[in-house]
Amino acid sequence: SLSRSSVIIVGAGISGITAAKVLAENGIEDMVILEASDRVGGRIRKETFGGVSVELGAGWIAGVGGPKPNPVWELASQFGLRTCYSDYSNARYNIYDRSGNIIPSGIAADSYKKAVDSAIQKLRCQEEEDEEEASDGYDHHSHDDETTPSPIELAIDFILHDFEMAEVEPISTFVDFGEREFLVADERGYDYLLYKMAEEFLFTSEGRILDNRLKLNKVVRELQYSKSGVTVKTEDGFVYEADYVILSVSIGVLQSHLLSFNPPLPRWKLEAIEKCDVMVYTKIFLKFPYKFWPSGPEKEFFIYAHERRGYYTFWQHMENAYPGSNILVVTLTNGESKRVETQPDEDTLREAMAVLKDMFGPNIPDAIDILVPRWWNNRFQRGSYSNYPIISNPKVFHNIKAPVGRIFFTGEHTSERFNGYVHGGYLSGIDTSKALLEEMRREKERKSESQTLL
Ligand code: FAD
Repeated sequence: SLSRSSVIIVGAGISGITAAKVLAENGIEDMVILEASDRVGGRIRKETFGGVSVELGAGWIAGVGGPKPNPVWELASQFGLRTCYSDYSNARYNIYDRSGNIIPSGIAADSYKKAVDSAIQKLRCQEEEDEEEASDGYDHHSHDDETTPSPIELAIDFILHDFEMAEVEPISTFVDFGEREFLVADERGYDYLLYKMAEEFLFTSEGRILDNRLKLNKVVRELQYSKSGVTVKTEDGFVYEADYVILSVSIGVLQSHLLSFNPPLPRWKLEAIEKCDVMVYTKIFLKFPYKFWPSGPEKEFFIYAHERRGYYTFWQHMENAYPGSNILVVTLTNGESKRVETQPDEDTLREAMAVLKDMFGPNIPDAIDILVPRWWNNRFQRGSYSNYPIISNPKVFHNIKAPVGRIFFTGEHTSERFNGYVHGGYLSGIDTSKALLEEMRREKERKSESQTLL
């Protein structure tokens, strides 16, 4: 016969571990955490590359120095995580064209301002159109702007839209927690925070979680739920039963067919899941025998302006984080991410080298190693993070988060204010576990009431 626990948590990323910790702190100890991969952390993931620890997933603690404390920054301070301040604002003054010339700062600043103004303009028009559409059902999207944008304009557009719209749209993370961002540069990895949290409620020894309530390599495939409980089946044929489930898989996984629900999820839930976009964000790491790029904090980020939007546009050197590591990082997104994920890494290396030779001349040394993460083709991720269309109906958020029977949803994508961030995952874990604790309390009350009636 099966042992039944109070709660099964699916996924051991930041949201799942946080939810489990809050449950444990509130006396719910009989839980099982089922994690598909062979490790905790999910999209917080370090790997050794070129002699240092690099972060394939989340790399920054974003939102520091503002009116409210960022809870992840507080954890990082508490556990002594090593971080480096990242100054993005200089990136616009380090734009290279295809001949290796740096765009003069005046022109760069001008183009930047123009791009921001036009993005704000577009956003306003879109808002008005959406209102009109809502009233007359007619699509007003016009197709003006027929002139081809220049490589600089494309590069700036990419930075503004595929990275952050902070200068266009107020982003809650920066409004609440501040505009500063800190790069995690710790050999123990960003996931050290998860380990330290786990230590408080799971059995650990010598840096490893050994508690048998955490089960790795358990790929959940089926959730069967009824008025009385939930049955969870994993790919290796195991069956787990519980009163409740907290499901922390990403929005990309929810959109895929990895999980089946019995009965199927209601239409309102499926529609909300479909409405949320998935962003793919890929950091490609390149190791060199020596440094040939300009260093210094104001040179940390540099931009390549090419006629193809998003083509190896955004670069970072790792000299601030790890001096002497001779590592460069280039970030690709969406279509470009998907393209390089399907090609051999040697092809990606060749493309990246050609771009670097455009910027720094033909005599630079070849990279001696490359690391290309594949978030899109990872069936336990299916993308990097959620991206709600800017003008989203608040109902979409509400429905993505809302429980279905005994299944509660958590994860970065359920955080209305901070989706897409580590702190979004963390706060959603707290939120969901509190909602579940409240539901458990009510169920207990209902039971004791019906007992006194008998
Ligand atoms: P996850 O970490 O995805 O946890 C879900 C877990 O569920 C995973 O461990 C997964 O393996 C598991 N799982 C999936 N399917 C199953 C299944 N069927 N059965 C069992 N387990 C399953 N945020 C920042 O704040 N700053 C950054 O700089 C930043 N950069 C990023 C860069 C990249 C490349 C990526 C990918 C993300 C980045 N983020 C960043 C976002 C941040 O990493 C996420 O918002 C956060 O880690 C998500 O946590 P989560 O718990 O919601 O989900």
